[in-house]
Amino acid sequence: MPRPAAFLDRDGVLNRSAPLHQYITSPKQLRLLPGAGGALRNLQDIGLALVVVTNQQGVGKGEMTLNDLDEVHQEMTARLASFGVHLDGLYACTHLESAGCACRKPRPGLLLRAAAELDLALGQSVMIGDSPADMEAGAAAGCGTRVRILRPGDAKDPYAYVVCRSLPKAVRWLAVHRAAEATATSIGKR
Ligand SMILES: [Mg+2]
Ligand SMILES: [Zn+2]
Repeated sequence: MPRPAAFLDRDGVLNRSAPLHQYITSPKQLRLLPGAGGALRNLQDIGLALVVVTNQQGVGKGEMTLNDLDEVHQEMTARLASFGVHLDGLYACTHLESAGCACRKPRPGLLLRAAAELDLALGQSVMIGDSPADMEAGAAAGCGTRVRILRPGDAKDPYAYVVCRSLPKAVRWLAVHRAAEATATSIGKR
């Protein structure tokens, strides 16, 4: 049976973003954000598949190689494992924005590919990200819930379902929201 997933943007959600127009090109630049490991563990415990979906145009620009990106992701996977977190999938678009590919967010290609490969129920899934492109991609893929982590000074987001200040806050909201929805559904069925 298809499983619900949490689709997670990477930079600014799981780890500190590189400065504007720069990229995390080596494992030693990777800084997990406070509480991110524990928050992912909570999402996993709720029963959601964990799928990272990230735009990494730096590869297309030649600022890092696919191998560099792989090393960053191996480091991330290892650090998260120390929190008991197992990522079900990690999907990256490495194309240039100008290439117009189907996988660079705000397009939904990464999410759709993950859903097909991992047998995920998109309508019951949530997209968590810190940019409008994340919310748009979640909406285009049909994710029922979209949580935008707002950065200071950000404007309202028409595609977001709810906004939060950090991943741990988003996960706390989600746990309560999903429990309430489950109760409402079971009452509705009676
Ligand atoms: Mg981001
Ligand atoms: Zn792409």
